[in-house]
Amino acid sequence: MALYRDRGVVLRTYRLGEADRIVVVLTEGHGKVRAVAKGVRKTKSRFGARLEPTSHVAMLLYEGRELDIVTQADSIEHHPTMRADLGRLAKATALLEAVDDVAQEREPDVQLYRMLVGALRALEQRDSPLLVAAFYWKLLAAEGVAPLVDGCARCGTADDLVAFDLTEGGVLCRAHRSGTPIGADALDLLRRILTGELNAALAAPAGPATRELEALATAAVESHVERRLRAPAVHLDADR
Ligand SMILES: [Zn+2]
Repeated sequence: MALYRDRGVVLRTYRLGEADRIVVVLTEGHGKVRAVAKGVRKTKSRFGARLEPTSHVAMLLYEGRELDIVTQADSIEHHPTMRADLGRLAKATALLEAVDDVAQEREPDVQLYRMLVGALRALEQRDSPLLVAAFYWKLLAAEGVAPLVDGCARCGTADDLVAFDLTEGGVLCRAHRSGTPIGADALDLLRRILTGELNAALAAPAGPATRELEALATAAVESHVERRLRAPAVHLDADR
């Protein structure tokens, strides 16, 4: 069996037998990887709490046919502030689930890995109301389905943009409106997120516009994942 080193973020874990755990990790160099961590649920485990969802770790793994085997795991970032805050932890979980849904097994996606590491770092530093929404929009853009936000997706006009419909490609003018209404403030924030003014967007205080954008982002990611996930889900007991 081939031995390899990689860094990654633990997306989720499953129980395996009495003492072992399967960890699903988004790695930098090998895409999404499923690996067995033996003895991880024993109190004297070598891995301890290092292999839990959100953990950013450096690992040494044996490559297996389906499941790899973790032989070593060292913490890179543990996000103590985020872990102590249930609100932030819920946001982190939303990020991990979206990444788990779009990441392909053993298909390297360095951009996705960097986005996730960066978002968890941002969440550790600041509990921004728009963090999850911003991540979702960036994720959709990385997936090649960025919404049109500068003009109506049907006629191109930049005036009187009042609705958002991802199946139409983005924002829509009053004459062509379908989907969900979008306010001017929410549209402004969405433009900032998509044009690289991410820090300005993340500094926005919680309000109607941030809530609107979060609801739109959640719906957009869900419909994108639905289209992507045609294969039936594997049912395993979540070890939470
Ligand atoms: Zn139009």
